[in-house]
Amino acid sequence: MRVVHKYGGTSVGSLERIRATAKLIQADIARGNEVAVVVSAMSGDTNRLMSMAQEMHAVPSAREMDALLSTGEQVSAALLSMALNHLGITAYSYNGAQAGFRTDSSHARARIKDVQSDHLIHHMQVGEVAVVTGFQGIDEAGNITTLGRGGSDTSDVALAIAVQADICDIYTDVDGIYTTDPRIVPQASKLQYISYEEMLEFASLGAKVLQTRSVGLAMRFDMPIHLRSSFEDISGTIVGGEDTDMERAEITGVAYNRDEAKVTIKGIPDQPGIAARIFGPVADADINVDVIVQNVSEHGYTDITFTVPRHDYTATMHLLQDLCVAMNAEKVKGDDTVAKVSIIGVGMRSHTGVALKMFDVLSHENINIQMITTSEIKVTVVLDEKYVELAVRSLHRAFDLDTTI
Ligand code: ASP
Ligand code: MG
Repeated sequence: MRVVHKYGGTSVGSLERIRATAKLIQADIARGNEVAVVVSAMSGDTNRLMSMAQEMHAVPSAREMDALLSTGEQVSAALLSMALNHLGITAYSYNGAQAGFRTDSSHARARIKDVQSDHLIHHMQVGEVAVVTGFQGIDEAGNITTLGRGGSDTSDVALAIAVQADICDIYTDVDGIYTTDPRIVPQASKLQYISYEEMLEFASLGAKVLQTRSVGLAMRFDMPIHLRSSFEDISGTIVGGEDTDMERAEITGVAYNRDEAKVTIKGIPDQPGIAARIFGPVADADINVDVIVQNVSEHGYTDITFTVPRHDYTATMHLLQDLCVAMNAEKVKGDDTVAKVSIIGVGMRSHTGVALKMFDVLSHENINIQMITTSEIKVTVVLDEKYVELAVRSLHRAFDLDTTI
């Protein structure tokens, strides 16, 4: 098999961890696999570089910021190559540009255009290991770019696609995806398998195990990901194409996100174009809107409520206050103590009444639902954040996800 491994910050967080990681690579080569590796910076390094930049300049140039942040990965890549050499394995470290990662020029959130990886394939074929810095590339003009925080997951998937690997292994400090957060529900169990689409829903809900973009890329090219622990030699969760033959449970898991705030603009004179007038400035301010509800217009007036990440709450309220005046609306209201709870699963496609069952369970616990949104494989409710744990626990139980141990 041809495999591209990725090691996150904690897996290369110290010299000792780097040695342990080198042994994992050695073991995979001994199994007869062709291996290339993508690394993150040693844990904490990217943050440390960021704070140094802040001390140098309040608004550092985006180009210099990328030049700085890309160095974290070079440290771990070179050290890991040395550790592999020490085990008798021929290894070469490559930074993003050397590895052939061509990107566009959007600093701090560059998109990968292509990976020119013939030299990396050659190393793999002769039993050598290329250790590639994650999270970075080079633009057409030769500037160093980075892919956004957590971007080495995306580098890993992109490299696996480029070298036509059979799978990409993402080694991290958790051993897989669980039916829900085991800190809230100790009876949560590890999923052996999850579809790309389900993983996208989990990832975008703040299960910060994988960068959401990496899952989207894997789905587009059907590149399965094995998410596993570098601390224990056990199999993790495979993220892959949907297995249509399988009999599906109603839902696969329960996710939540506390990083939410809710804002409402009330009494807007209803006319075509109001949504665009509101969401235009919000998007321009780089604020990510999620759940949106617009009320039925009454007597020519309507209300719009939506959620934003909590750290954007104050900025959003300011924006809406200005819009309220400009649009002749009645008032603006907000609440930054809300949270989102979702049930997720491709099984919803073949089971009916899943949403209703969710509402019943919440009502039974006397939890008030403030907003609802659904997709084909997800039902999300917005509720008071103090009910998150109760909601997650009761949903996990009601949908038969609690394991009996
Ligand atoms: N080192 C980068 C970060 O901390 C990229 C990564 O770890 O994936 O965001
Ligand atoms: Mg990460």
